[in-house]
Amino acid sequence: MKTIRVKAYGTDSAEADLKQFDINRRVVTAKDVEIDILFCGVCHSDLHFARNDWGMTQYPVVPGHEIVGRVTKVGDGVSKYKVGDLVAVGCLVDSCRTCDNCKADLEQYCPEWVGTYGGYDKHLDTNTHGGYSETIVIDEEFVLRVPENLDHAGIAPVLCAGITTWSPLRHWNVGKGSKVAVVGLGGLGHMAIKLAHALGAHVTLFSRSTNKIEDAKALGADDVIISTDATQMENAMGRFDIILDTVPYAHDLNPYVGALSTNGTLVVVGYLGPLDPMLVTVPMIMGRKSVAGSLIGGIAETQELLDFCGKHNITSDVEVINIQEINQAYERMLKSDVKYRFVIDMKSLKG
Ligand code: NAP
Ligand code: ZN
Ligand code: ZN
Repeated sequence: MKTIRVKAYGTDSAEADLKQFDINRRVVTAKDVEIDILFCGVCHSDLHFARNDWGMTQYPVVPGHEIVGRVTKVGDGVSKYKVGDLVAVGCLVDSCRTCDNCKADLEQYCPEWVGTYGGYDKHLDTNTHGGYSETIVIDEEFVLRVPENLDHAGIAPVLCAGITTWSPLRHWNVGKGSKVAVVGLGGLGHMAIKLAHALGAHVTLFSRSTNKIEDAKALGADDVIISTDATQMENAMGRFDIILDTVPYAHDLNPYVGALSTNGTLVVVGYLGPLDPMLVTVPMIMGRKSVAGSLIGGIAETQELLDFCGKHNITSDVEVINIQEINQAYERMLKSDVKYRFVIDMKSLKG
C-alpha cells in the first residue's frame, strides 16, 4: 500500500517524554478521507496511554483523539465529504460494522473497534496513530461533520470529553428537572456540566478543589459540594438521579452511591481498574441503586452531539498550546492545572 511520511509527536516508552518523529499515513483508498489536522485536544487518556497506566500500550504511541481539521483529499468512492469540509475524528476509526453493537450505532462496544491510536491498523499492519500529527486518513463512515459556526479549537474536546459525558446523559434520559452530579472538574467534568445544564438538568459538582467553585457556576453548575468536607458530603446523601464520576485514579465510590436517590445510577467514566476501597452493597440494595460504566459514544451519537453544540453554541473552555509544550501540559494536567482542556494548535508541528 502506498504511504506518505508526515510529522507526528509521540513516545516510544512509558518513561520518555513525547518528541517529534515521522509516521506513515496511507494514500487515500476509495472510501478514505484525508484530513489536514488544525487542532487536537489533550485528553487524560492520552497521558494514561503514553505512560502505559493501563498496561496495554504498544510503542511507539502517537496520542490524540479530539481531532478537528479540513478535508484535503477524498477517495473515488467517498460521497459524504468533499475537499475543504470542516470535519472531526474522535476516538474510533473503524469497527466490524456487522455485529449487533455496530448495527445499533454502538460501535464503541464492538469487539473489533479500532481506536484512533493504539488500535490495529489493518491497512499498514501497525498501531493506529492519533491526532498529534499533521494529517490523518480514515474511512468516511468514521468522519464527523463540524458546524462551521463553532470555534475550531473549542470544538475539539467535544470529540472525547464531550461525547463521553453526553452518551450517559442521553442513555439515562437526563432532561428538564433531572438531578445530575458530576465528580471532578477537568476536561470531562466541565463538558458534563455544560451539557447537563443545556439539557435542563439541575447540576451539582463534587470537587476536591475549593478554588473551582466560581468556575463551576459559570459553566452552568447550580451547586458545588467539596468532596473533602465531611459535613457537605453528609448533606449530599440521597440527592441525585445520576452521578457522572470522571476522576482518573482509584478512589472511594461509596460516598457517591450514598449520594444517589432511590433508583439512582453512579456512572463511572474516569477510572479504569479494580476499586479500592471495595464497594459496599448495602446502600445499593436498600435503594435499588446502580453502579455503571460507559465508554465514549458511537458515531451517530457523536454527530448528534456536534449538531447539538452547533445549535446551542457550546464549546469547550480551552487553553491552546503548541505541540512543543505537550510534556509540560501533561505535568500540569496531573496537577489539575488546566481550565479546562489543553488543545494543540497543529500549526506548531507544521511550521
Ligand atoms: P482531567 O482533565 O485531568 O480531569 C480529572 C479531574 O478529576 C481533575 O480535574 C480533578 O477534579 C479530579 N480528580 C480527583 N482526584 C484526582 C487525582 N488523584 N488526580 C487527578 N485528578 C483528580 O481528566 P479528563 O481528561 O477529564 O479524564 C478523566 C478520566 O476519564 C481519565 O481517567 C480518562 O482516561 C477517562 N476517560 C474515559 C473515557 C470513557 O470513555 N469512559 C473517555 C475519556 C476519558 P477536581 O479538582 O475538581 O477534584
Ligand atoms: Zn479521551
Ligand atoms: Zn461490530
